[in-house]
Amino acid sequence: MIFSTTKGRRLKLRSTPFPPAWREILHRRFPLLACLPPDDLRELEGRIQVFLAEKQFEGCDGLVITDEIRVVIAAQACLLLLHRDTDYYPDLKSILVYPSTYFSRVTEEDEEQQAAFAGQSWQRGPVILAWDAVQGAVSNPWDGQNVVFHEFAHQLDEEDGRVDGVPVLAAKGPLPERLSRYRSWARILSQEFAQLQQASAAGHASVLDEYGATNPAEFFAVATECFFEKPRQLREKHPELYAELKRFYQQDPAEWDLPAPFTPEANT
Ligand SMILES: [Zn+2]
Repeated sequence: MIFSTTKGRRLKLRSTPFPPAWREILHRRFPLLACLPPDDLRELEGRIQVFLAEKQFEGCDGLVITDEIRVVIAAQACLLLLHRDTDYYPDLKSILVYPSTYFSRVTEEDEEQQAAFAGQSWQRGPVILAWDAVQGAVSNPWDGQNVVFHEFAHQLDEEDGRVDGVPVLAAKGPLPERLSRYRSWARILSQEFAQLQQASAAGHASVLDEYGATNPAEFFAVATECFFEKPRQLREKHPELYAELKRFYQQDPAEWDLPAPFTPEANT
């Protein structure tokens, strides 16, 4: 059976000792990890090993893929998977990495033009990232901006076949319970999305980046960045949204051992 083979292989990978050189990379490049509970860190290391065994990395525009690039990206992608019954981004085969912001064709108002990107996520296709943007995101973990969290949130969103801001919330369990999860998500996320649209139109600042006002899919991706990078501000200003994301991600970053001096006002 393919399923049990995959499951067995993943369990084995997760229990393989984590290479000390990779741990050193994480320690040096991903300061957010210093705040994670020790059990989460151990789980993350296991998930990184599965992710790196299953996904291809391709360097673009001459970028040579190194262990540092693979480990730094994998760690951020896998942080979104902790504590969950996950299939490791099943539609994703490869991650393309450019040295810096890259240009890609977009169609806007029926006109094709070139636009600059720090990252993209294609449905049933690759995640594309600019390495300089990834490095900026990982070295500044409390500014609410993280291109890797953003693009991998899109990957989670598409697991049910639609990119609509609603990931798979409850695949198992009694139907009434599952329905209530979806109802609660729909009510709170659409309320919060509308609020961000209004704030953005009125020029009011929000703890959520105004790019989230673009559409519900971008709202979920932006809210994910904020959940992990400005958790206390998000919990304080948008407690219902924080609670929904906490239930989905099964993590509570506002309770992590955040660095001092870290105050709720520091990064709003
Ligand atoms: Zn996006």
